Amino acid sequence: MHSGRCEDGSDIKNKVTIFYGLLRERGKNMDLKQIYREIVNEHNLHPGHKGDLIRPCYIREGVNPTCGDDINLQLAIDDDGVITEASFNGSGCAVSQASADIMLEMIEGKTKEEALELVDTFMEMVHGTATEEQIEELEEAAALQDVAHMPARAKCATLGWHTLEKVLREDVKA
Ligand SMILES: [Zn+2]
Repeated sequence: MHSGRCEDGSDIKNKVTIFYGLLRERGKNMDLKQIYREIVNEHNLHPGHKGDLIRPCYIREGVNPTCGDDINLQLAIDDDGVITEASFNGSGCAVSQASADIMLEMIEGKTKEEALELVDTFMEMVHGTATEEQIEELEEAAALQDVAHMPARAKCATLGWHTLEKVLREDVKA
């Protein structure tokens, strides 16, 4: 069951506020890597979007065999193309699970087109071609930039995003 999201969400929002406060302090001896690690840990330990939707219209499995990550992505999209609910289930390393949770937090309430733009921006960050402005647009997902640059972990970080892209581009209903 998909429950407790609101209660969990407040904690995450608090984290986001702290995160942005610290981002603004960048260059003033703040350890950004430490903040990034904490964001990833928080989403891995207390995911706000983990669980099954009651009535998903899209379900898609994403697998990263090199690490053993497995994500079952579930979306509800209304007639206007707005993602009204988003969740995932599965298992895997902290990076894969946290990245999926952060992504779902960001796309809920957005249109399919907006979500696809976010996927593109995230991929640019992973490939090291994103501008500072683009990275800022990624909000908490920016926490994955260090780990995403490690070849062995990039597939973990992008698993949820690739899976989302497939769902939205192929548009095959569950
Ligand atoms: Zn992994």
